[in-house]
Amino acid sequence: MRPVLSVHDAPPRHWVGDGFLVRSMLSHGVQGAAISPFIMLDHAGPMEFAPTSERRGVGQHPHKGFETVTIVYDGAVEHRDSTGAGGVIGPGDVQWMTAASGILHEEYHAPAFAAAGGRFEMVQLWVNLPAKDKSAPPGYQTLLDADIPVVTLPEGAGRLGVVAGRFGEARGPARTFTPMNIWDLRLVRDGKMRLDVPEGHTLSLAVLDGTVEIDGHTILRTGQTAVLGREGGAVGVEANGEAKLLVLTGEPIDEMVVAHGPFVMNSTEEIRQAMHDFRAGRFGTIRASETA
Ligand code: MN
Repeated sequence: MRPVLSVHDAPPRHWVGDGFLVRSMLSHGVQGAAISPFIMLDHAGPMEFAPTSERRGVGQHPHKGFETVTIVYDGAVEHRDSTGAGGVIGPGDVQWMTAASGILHEEYHAPAFAAAGGRFEMVQLWVNLPAKDKSAPPGYQTLLDADIPVVTLPEGAGRLGVVAGRFGEARGPARTFTPMNIWDLRLVRDGKMRLDVPEGHTLSLAVLDGTVEIDGHTILRTGQTAVLGREGGAVGVEANGEAKLLVLTGEPIDEMVVAHGPFVMNSTEEIRQAMHDFRAGRFGTIRASETA
């Protein structure tokens, strides 16, 4: 049986810019190597936004040394970055941005969603890169809802979307630098299933909504995240009512992590260099678009 190393209650929510009221489900500063290669998981919403003609979100800012993965459940997010990439992602879509050697981007509620208002919910996950890939060119993958395979679970327990990695025969569309699985798990009332997680992978279960029991011994409620051990085989999950979880497994990156604001590097010297390069304008520029 895989041991539950710890269960975390998310701290109070905080605003990221004026568009994202988030609770921190996972953080390198709290869980450290137990969640490698993941660095951070923020859950924004669910909450209702009134219609507005203002831009809500986070203006131009840098990232370096890792990847940001944004999964939208409700609402829509608009993104533009210094590689020239951009676009709008809606419910079920995922934006996988590789900052690597350095990128500037902005993240806003999409204008059409802002104008109409409504329910907004997303997560943003930060995925670390090995030292050898931190200097790779930045990139951007749009993973559309239609391209994310959904596995129907046995005995009507629910469904599991494969964003990255695999589940059984289903393979997720994301290109990753290191082995990992990102599963969007929805269980029906009293649905139970087994998560077959590769030996050696870290494992985190974040409950976005509902209540679940792990292997019949640990109860997790909305806003709680369990971090499990790297060995011990499959993990049983049983819902008490409907439940929505994000399941993260990954081969840990066994390197020093120094995370500072929007930069995730291997040493304080590299952080200093990243801050210097950003101030010197070496992260490029975001081209003005016709619609801005
Ligand atoms: Mn960002």
